[in-house]
Amino acid sequence: MQTNFSEEQLKNKDNQSSEKIFKKCVHCGMCNATCPTFDLLSDELDGPRGRIYLIQDMLENEKKPTPNVVNHIDRCLSCYSCMTTCPAEVNYMHLIDHGRKYIEKNYERPFLDKTIRNFLSVVIPNTKLFKLLSLFAKIAKPFKLFFPSIIKEMIELAPKSFPKKTVKNKEIYKTRSKQKIARVALLTGCVQKEISPQINEATIRILNRHGVEVVASKNINCCGSLNHHLGKNNKAHKDFINNINIWHEQYLKGNLDAILSNTSGCGTTMKDYGFIFKNDKKMKKKAKKISELTKDVSEYLLENLNLKFKSKEKKFRIAYHSACSMQHGQKVHNQPINLLGKTKNEILEIPDGHLCCGSAGTYNILQSKIAKKLLKNKIKNIESLKPQIISTGNIGCITQIANGTNIPILHTVEILDWYTGGPKPEILKGI
Ligand code: SF4
Ligand code: SF4
Repeated sequence: MQTNFSEEQLKNKDNQSSEKIFKKCVHCGMCNATCPTFDLLSDELDGPRGRIYLIQDMLENEKKPTPNVVNHIDRCLSCYSCMTTCPAEVNYMHLIDHGRKYIEKNYERPFLDKTIRNFLSVVIPNTKLFKLLSLFAKIAKPFKLFFPSIIKEMIELAPKSFPKKTVKNKEIYKTRSKQKIARVALLTGCVQKEISPQINEATIRILNRHGVEVVASKNINCCGSLNHHLGKNNKAHKDFINNINIWHEQYLKGNLDAILSNTSGCGTTMKDYGFIFKNDKKMKKKAKKISELTKDVSEYLLENLNLKFKSKEKKFRIAYHSACSMQHGQKVHNQPINLLGKTKNEILEIPDGHLCCGSAGTYNILQSKIAKKLLKNKIKNIESLKPQIISTGNIGCITQIANGTNIPILHTVEILDWYTGGPKPEILKGI
C-alpha cells in the first residue's frame, strides 16, 4: 500500500513503525472474509481493510477523528482473526493499537461514553473496587430499567457472587514432595483471581505436582491490556513498566524459567511488551526478555512437562473454544487440544471456531448489541455438538459463554489438573 507520511511525521517512532505495516498491505481484502464485524455488519469500514484505510488516513493527514471513524474503530473486537488470514502478514494489532491511541489523544468522546470508559479503566483492574461495585450492581439490579442501556449492561454483566478461595494467597508456592525442576512466575491477574480463583489454584496445583515452583508476585496485578485496548496509554504503561521491572529483577536473580499466563488476553499483551517498548532505551531490553519468557500455561505444560494423566471411567464430550487472543493473538491452538486429548475424552472443535464469542475485554459492555449477536452464534455452534463440558483458556470467554448456555464451562487447566490428580472441579460435581 502506498504511504504519504512526510519526513517530519516519520520522526515520530509510532508513525515510523505503522508506515512499515501499511506498506505490507496489498488491499486484497482476504481478511474481511474472517472478520466477525464485517460478517455481521457487511460494511467495508467494519472490516480490517477498511479500518486500515481509516487509520492511515487519520495518521497521514493528522485528521481530527470524526464520530463516524471512531465508531468503526470502536467496533473492532481486537480479535486478530484478520491477522491469521492475512497472506502478507500485516500486523493489524499494532495498527489498531496506534489508531486507538491517536483517537484517545485527539477525540473528545460524548460525556457518557467518556465517563464509562474512564470508569471501566479504573474499576476493572482494581480488585477491591471491582468487588465493591459488583455488590452495588446486585443491589441496583431490580431498578436497572431506570438506567441508560450501557449501565443496564454493566449491572447485568457484573458477577452475582465471588467464590471462596481454597488456596491461601502466597508469594511462593513450593513443589510438594518432589524435586524442583523449574521455577516460573504466574500472572494471577486482576478480575480472574476474584471471580474464578479456582483457575489460579488449578494452575498452581498442577505445576507444583509436576515439580515446578510458582512465584505469584504480590506487586503485580493487571497486565495492562485493558487500558491498552481502551487507548489509555499512560495507565497501561504504568502497569507494563511495573510488571517488566519486577519480573526482570526476578529473572536476573537467575531463578525464573518462564512467565506464565492462564488468561490468553493478558498473555497476548505480555508477549507484545517487547514491541511496545522497542523505542524506549531504558526498557526495551528488559521488555523484550519478558516477552520471550512469556508462555500461555498450555504451551508450558505441553512443551516442558511430562504430565501424568489418570484415566477415569466416565468419558465426556468436551467442546474446545479457542479464544481469539489464544488462537489469533498468540497462535496457540493445538497445544490445549493436544493436552485435552490426553484425558481420553472426546474433544470437539466448534464450527466457525475462528469467530469471536463477543467477550473481547470490555467489548460486551461497550458494544453490547454486536457482542450479543456474536454470543448467540457461538452458543448455536457449541450446542450443535451436544457437548457435556466446554473448555477454553480465557476468563473473558468463560464469563461471556456462561451467560448464554447452561453447559458447564471450565478453564482448560482445571480439566488438566483434575485428570492429573487434582480435585474434581466444583461445577462438574453433579455430572
Ligand atoms: S481484529 Fe477482529 S474485528 Fe477487528 S478487524 Fe480484525 S478480524 Fe475484524
Ligand atoms: S488480508 Fe492483509 S494484505 Fe489483504 S487487505 Fe487484509 S490486511 Fe491487507
